[in-house]
Amino acid sequence: MEKKLTNGAIDFIDDKLFHNLINNTKEDLPKIREILAKSKTKQALTLDETATLLAIKSPEAREELFDTAKELKRSIYGNRIVLFAPLYIGNYCINNCKYCGFRSSLTKAVRKTLTEKEIIANVSQLEKEGHKRLILVYGEHPKYTPEFIAENVKTCYGVKEGNGEIRRININAAPLDVGGFKTVKESGIGTFQVFQESYHKETYAQYHPGPGIKSDYMWRLNAMDRAFEAGIDDVGIGALFGLYDWRFEVLGLVQHSIYLQDKYGVGPHTISFPRIKPASGMALNLPYEVSDQEFKQLVAILRLAVPYTGLIMTARESKEVRDAVIEFGVSQIDAGTRLELGGYQEKRKEDQDLDREQFKVGDSRELDAVIQWLLSRGFLPSFCTSCYRLGRTGEHFMEYAIPGFIGRFCTPNAMLTLAEYLEDYSSEATKKAGYALIEEELALIKNSNKREDLSTKLKKIKEGKRDLLY
Ligand code: SAM
Ligand code: SF4
Repeated sequence: MEKKLTNGAIDFIDDKLFHNLINNTKEDLPKIREILAKSKTKQALTLDETATLLAIKSPEAREELFDTAKELKRSIYGNRIVLFAPLYIGNYCINNCKYCGFRSSLTKAVRKTLTEKEIIANVSQLEKEGHKRLILVYGEHPKYTPEFIAENVKTCYGVKEGNGEIRRININAAPLDVGGFKTVKESGIGTFQVFQESYHKETYAQYHPGPGIKSDYMWRLNAMDRAFEAGIDDVGIGALFGLYDWRFEVLGLVQHSIYLQDKYGVGPHTISFPRIKPASGMALNLPYEVSDQEFKQLVAILRLAVPYTGLIMTARESKEVRDAVIEFGVSQIDAGTRLELGGYQEKRKEDQDLDREQFKVGDSRELDAVIQWLLSRGFLPSFCTSCYRLGRTGEHFMEYAIPGFIGRFCTPNAMLTLAEYLEDYSSEATKKAGYALIEEELALIKNSNKREDLSTKLKKIKEGKRDLLY
């Protein structure tokens, strides 16, 4: 299925095959049930099996899909949800993606690159709110060299505000060459994300007309190969939903995951599935807009198709949609999100100025409100960065598949990082709800030695110790 092109690029997206699967797979309840049963054993799905789930139309099959996704999410990820904040560093851009508020043809866009001082001020503010994990976001511009990105990463890690510190930094920036990825990796990043936007080549060409290198579909499609070659084993992929048929994009994401897993022994660390939101001067008439129902279905299908890949639902979605979808497979969300460059330093504005921001945010709640909501739903908010800091990345991250991994590491670390948050940053109401959930979780630990050990660590946090981890 893979095609090596004359310039050495590898095309693993077979449009014809995807269209065949979409057009010729009809809803088949017995087959769907077989696949759902296989999913319960935490095995990844093939493209054919994914296509069978994409063909689901009846409410009956849909409910069974949702129930299975919910169950699988709980059994692999427990009830924890990892929290992070995006920090936009610069919005200069040479590309002209038709849907983006940073596109080069948008002359009224207010362009800015944060200075070192502004980065420090924004990170301090994020730390004061309780954040421990950031994703740095960039337009594509010669200013944003790998060295520049690496320097920004070091600056962010260096900011210590009270008990606060940033313990993991991910990147969402233009795809780099191998040397560039190496430089950024050496600065100590977690995941490097590049979204393909659309896996469908004609659609890709239509929305990325150039100028700018983003018009080169293959350069982007092979970005993660270059990242792996550079030694980055935590990569994040994604598709921008609304450009083309959502079922094609899901097949693209699953095929991309299978390709990386087969070739490098590691699938993507995360998958993102942003839906297009209004942006400045955007007169987009989206023939493939994804409804809320389809959105929920695509998240559930991704959960089953790539059980060990984290799924990120961003604040592009409204709080209502996040509430309705989170339990079907999401493992990470951003919170307290501000897109305006330097926006964390300022008082939150009532309305967004789209000439200064990439797109309209759907969920603008502060971090504490998001944590309260998660707790009220029985989710365990987590700021854990333990795996990455203890070298459990890439292939080792697949230890996730080992029985007991969640119980040994993820849930206790979520409890410890939540306790830090409750001690240092939370409102009284959140503190009460947070400790109530921690107590419930403690009571669920059957092994008394483990329970004791965790209780001791929690006590130490109350006494002022920080950064205790498993
Ligand atoms: N400039 C880099 C690039 O294009 O890869 C960094 C990423 S861009 C700042 C982050 C992502 O935002 C894009 O990959 C795209 O999927 C998404 N995005 C752009 N415009 C959007 C819109 N109007 N609504 C929702 N997401 C959007
Ligand atoms: Fe630039 Fe990225 Fe926006 Fe495209 S999506 S215009 S590359 S910032």
